[in-house]
Amino acid sequence: MPEALPKFEFNKYFVHRLNDGRVLLITSLGRIARLNKNEFAAFQKQKFDRALFKKLEQSHIIITEQNRQLAVDDYKIRYSHVCEGVSLHIVNPTMRCNQNCLYCYANSSGLDSTGFDMGEETAKKIIDFAWQSPRKEITIEFQGGEPLANFPIIESIVNYAKTKKGKKVHWRVVSNLTLMDETIASFLQKNQIFDVCTSIDGPKKLHDKNRPWSKGSSFDKVVQWINCLKQDYGFKRLGALCTVTKNSLPFSEEIVDTYLELGFSDITPVPLRKIGLAGKNWEKIGYSGSEYIDFWSKTLDYCIKKTREGKPISEQFTVLNLGKMNRVEPNYHTCFSKPCGAALMQCSYQPNGDIFTCDEAKAVSLFKIGTVEQSYKQVFTSKEALNIVSLSSSLGFACNECKFTGFCRFCPVLTYCTQGSLVPMLALDQECKTKKAQFSLILEKLFGKDREILLKWLEENN
Ligand code: SF4
Ligand code: SF4
Repeated sequence: MPEALPKFEFNKYFVHRLNDGRVLLITSLGRIARLNKNEFAAFQKQKFDRALFKKLEQSHIIITEQNRQLAVDDYKIRYSHVCEGVSLHIVNPTMRCNQNCLYCYANSSGLDSTGFDMGEETAKKIIDFAWQSPRKEITIEFQGGEPLANFPIIESIVNYAKTKKGKKVHWRVVSNLTLMDETIASFLQKNQIFDVCTSIDGPKKLHDKNRPWSKGSSFDKVVQWINCLKQDYGFKRLGALCTVTKNSLPFSEEIVDTYLELGFSDITPVPLRKIGLAGKNWEKIGYSGSEYIDFWSKTLDYCIKKTREGKPISEQFTVLNLGKMNRVEPNYHTCFSKPCGAALMQCSYQPNGDIFTCDEAKAVSLFKIGTVEQSYKQVFTSKEALNIVSLSSSLGFACNECKFTGFCRFCPVLTYCTQGSLVPMLALDQECKTKKAQFSLILEKLFGKDREILLKWLEENN
């Protein structure tokens, strides 16, 4: 007589088959039960023994009296970011820039142009506006253009924020570092602004091709300042992004080696997106989704190989996706949450005080949600803001029925810039194809021989 099992009902789940025949059952929040062939056959016939029952209960594939509240709590945790207010305030002190990167999404103007700088009055209004966020801790990130091209406004914002009470501010500067000097470095050090992110696209020849600079090698300059900030000014949290163009595709290993040589322990190979100049230069520097996946998977394999050899370097898209596969907490990276961070966890302030949903959207007028002349409540409850939040939840799209829905997120900016529509045509969507390939590959590795390394990366990056 088979043992009687407690009462249960099925949660919504999806089936994904690994290459070796094992089966993953995945909930719409991304909880995973891994079954072998026999277990899956028993599951299909609903003939569970106690061990299989436990496995299904722990992963919320089935709901019982024991896990019902936990399953509800998962939803509360995963979507907690929807109610917490904007934490990431991206301030663009200027839209001028001294470089001519082939893929600039900000549509920056030349260094000598006029009319693209933020003034004192707007700067103060931005801080007053950010202070209306219900968050007790906020991040203020300087972007641009090249933010250091209007350094006096950075100084004035930092000094003004110091006069205000009630919030803990984490500061970040995103800069190409070619305008860095001792005065700026000392100011950042004195104000404990150690979170600086720059760009390294790979070895010198490749970096300089992607990121031309009229005064010489932008690679030499950025490397000089990375070393100087670390050694002479005590910067520990220096980060870098690697934008992948067609020029980068043959050089996955050389790019990772460059990161290791410069002392980085992670790499983020950002795919090119048809936004701003990248869209205009697409014929010259663009590539297909499958070309990116080929590049990205080689980069991932090489990072795993290097880590195994004792030179640890993690691939950050893998880490971000692993976070969704192993935890229910919303992702700290605003583009990896669902709904995404646009007009929910982040916004971007233009030099004239216009507010956009997020930084990538700042050159696209459709994504303007208000100005600093309005109140925080007016801006974030405007129909423009709520429409984008609703779209980025991807509720109502075919995504809802996709097996990867628990890991995925939807980017309205990218969809609009590539398809001319805010509602994605998923069958034609390169980003969707790319993400599906990435999820499949990461799942193979997570449940294969590289599991230990991947979980170590995850642990070290959170
Ligand atoms: S709209 Fe796109 S770029 Fe903007 S926060 Fe969302 S995912 Fe990121
Ligand atoms: S975008 Fe594509 S991969 Fe992501 S949930 Fe939607 S259908 Fe699935």
